[in-house]
Amino acid sequence: MFYERLSKIYQDKPFLSTEFPFEEYYPLFKRFVLEEVERNTKYINPYRFSYNYGIAPKRSLRLFLVLSDHDESFLEKYFFYECECGESVILPYEQIYEFTCPNCEESITDSDESYDYLKYIKILFKLSNSIRQGVLSDLKAQSPSDYKGRKGTDSEGDEQAVVTLGEAFEVNKLKDEPTASKDLDKLESRVFRALTYRLN
Ligand SMILES: [Zn+2]
Repeated sequence: MFYERLSKIYQDKPFLSTEFPFEEYYPLFKRFVLEEVERNTKYINPYRFSYNYGIAPKRSLRLFLVLSDHDESFLEKYFFYECECGESVILPYEQIYEFTCPNCEESITDSDESYDYLKYIKILFKLSNSIRQGVLSDLKAQSPSDYKGRKGTDSEGDEQAVVTLGEAFEVNKLKDEPTASKDLDKLESRVFRALTYRLN
């Protein structure tokens, strides 16, 4: 299932093969996903992928952005920020434009710190449930007697080491390379429009 999903993304985004050859990245990504499911982490971190496999952090982030920018992807993007009221807000991509805290209903664009939201908003990557379930049943099928599963010991800690919106914008459009994520591209114009209005 993972193989099919990844092949489909490569098929629909031909530039992926040039930047990240399938034969090289498929085994790495497969191993990484397997490990992450075993560790039961809530979000998977491109910087850990980078660290584990000796891939430059920016390249790793760019790969995650490309892979999550597809209707049938196994990677979903979420946005995370901490509101001034102390609430941790996690929003799916579709809701990011609202930027509203469910606790105090304050919009992030009203905040005094909103000029900093390139650093302030983080991007989280989550494996889709179907892939997670698929990997889990494979694991159980391979070693039913000793597979017990592990409870997320460090899933919270992972949120601390996540990617900022500014970092994501930076690798999204590299010189001479196609845009990694079109929806991030839209968000970027929107963010900069909002910032421009604030300055006026
Ligand atoms: Zn709030």
